[in-house]
Amino acid sequence: MINQEEKKIALETAEKLKSRYEQPKAALMPLLYEVQARDGYISPEAENEVAELLGISPTEVHESVTFYPLLFEKPVGKYHIQFCHNISCSLLGAEPLIDLLQKELGVGQGEVTEDGLFSYQRAECLGCCADAPVMLINEELFGRLNEETVRRIIEQIRAGKKPDNYTPLTETNEIEDPVLSFNFRVPNASNLKIAEARGAYKAMRTVLSEFEPEKIIETIKSAGLRGMGGAGFPAGLKWSFVPKDPSLTKYLCVNCDESEPGTFKDREIMRRDPHRLIEASVITAKAFGASRAYVYIRREFYEEKKIFEKALKEAYEAGFLGENILDSGVSVDIYTHPGAGAYICGEETGLINSIEGKKGWPRIKPPFPAVVGLFNKPTVVNNVETLSNIPYIINNGVEAYRKRGTEKSPGTKLFGVSGHVKRPGIYELPMGFSLRELIYGICGGITEGRALKAVIPGGSSVPVLKADEIDVDLDFDSLEAVGTYLGSGGVIVMDDSVSMPWVLEVLARFYAHESCGQCTPCREGVVWMYEILHRMNSGRGRKGDLELLLDLANNVEGQTICPLGAAAAWPVQAMLKKFPDEFKRLCR
Ligand code: SF4
Repeated sequence: MINQEEKKIALETAEKLKSRYEQPKAALMPLLYEVQARDGYISPEAENEVAELLGISPTEVHESVTFYPLLFEKPVGKYHIQFCHNISCSLLGAEPLIDLLQKELGVGQGEVTEDGLFSYQRAECLGCCADAPVMLINEELFGRLNEETVRRIIEQIRAGKKPDNYTPLTETNEIEDPVLSFNFRVPNASNLKIAEARGAYKAMRTVLSEFEPEKIIETIKSAGLRGMGGAGFPAGLKWSFVPKDPSLTKYLCVNCDESEPGTFKDREIMRRDPHRLIEASVITAKAFGASRAYVYIRREFYEEKKIFEKALKEAYEAGFLGENILDSGVSVDIYTHPGAGAYICGEETGLINSIEGKKGWPRIKPPFPAVVGLFNKPTVVNNVETLSNIPYIINNGVEAYRKRGTEKSPGTKLFGVSGHVKRPGIYELPMGFSLRELIYGICGGITEGRALKAVIPGGSSVPVLKADEIDVDLDFDSLEAVGTYLGSGGVIVMDDSVSMPWVLEVLARFYAHESCGQCTPCREGVVWMYEILHRMNSGRGRKGDLELLLDLANNVEGQTICPLGAAAAWPVQAMLKKFPDEFKRLCR
């Protein structure tokens, strides 16, 4: 039972949160986090309380609580541990460390220690792949873990000490005339004074005083800026689909739900250069007439959310956000909105539904969000990296932007490299950079003197490349020409010790876990793909399993509402084609 004081606080919090949205239900997720922080979990009584505060039914609250993995239906430990078991962490030994952790704690997945101190859950990608293996303890990230550090962290917490934080800043490179990583190596560049001294908000000032919306769109179209979240859709073209009617309310949603295994570029922008994203969001909002933007940040990015919210506060205080920015007549408010551990919310319509306080179920298109989006209003959803290119383009011009990259993939891109390379990290490179040079030059080659076996070049969903296929340029067209995709730019490198059926099982487990369940081919087919792979890797492979696996993949691809089905099918199709003998050996 909550007391009167807690009731009063909950009411005030709910009113404050509701004011950020057109519909009160959209305050559901942030309000549930407030309740979870207060009670430790979300009880049926708390669900009723939240329902009442938002004027919605308890069923609507319950369906979200049961959909999102980071909303807890039962109490967790004082220290709740999420240990990543996805591909980049597993390649570097996550599984034995999870076994060790279970032994140290004496509990299994989802259980709480008797003293109530610890609980743990396996997590899908925590978006920090260069620092694998990683775990989150409450809001703090620990990376580059090994047996010694895992033991020591647990011991330190048990002894009531603050554990040492083992996560260094992700490695980056220096590039001449950077577009995206301009501030990555500058200490405290998330601070407004430092960012402004280095040119932040100059592009926004130019646009607010000199550019009509049409000119912004034409500039970005001429620059050829493409979506960096995975799809590569031209950003300016997307904006141009929004109806021009000035009487319509329009929204910008910034996608920072970066959850594709192997991908961790947006995190670096949020952490090291948040003002670039704020500036870019104001420019984008002016381009198509939005006055409100929501930055959807995955829950696991605790630190990045704090940094970004601090930057937002500074921007408001400086008059760079809010009503009539710099007397320009343009008003833009930006709010953060938390995710809750569901990969599918990275899909633009899943993200919109999630902001609206619903399950993150992707919508059938058309209608497209540009016409019917958030709260049924015209909406643009853009990825963090996509937007972060904009200040450079405005400040330096289209020619300067296009001087690097290729005709159809201009500019530069952030590539996140993880797995078996000597220098994993986040690297800004011109589009069209050689994959071989990235692995053997920038990243120093393969660890422990081993040979390269395979590379997934664009996040876990894109088809794998064999070692003899890495003489390819990293841009949209070149990668498509060899049967894979640029995707999110998450490059996962595997040495010759790795079993490809095992890799495929890890990937299939992820997609089976993340399927939202709306489409039968995805809900059933992807789970079966995982089950068959698990059976094969457990020594119980059957004659006919490979044909069945391929048949399933072929019947999931293209038969679903959103691209998750295809994302699960592509790795299966490519691995069976490129490494058939490894799979055949497991099926007798
Ligand atoms: Fe949901 Fe899968 Fe269908 Fe996407 S493809 S809508 S994740 S069931």
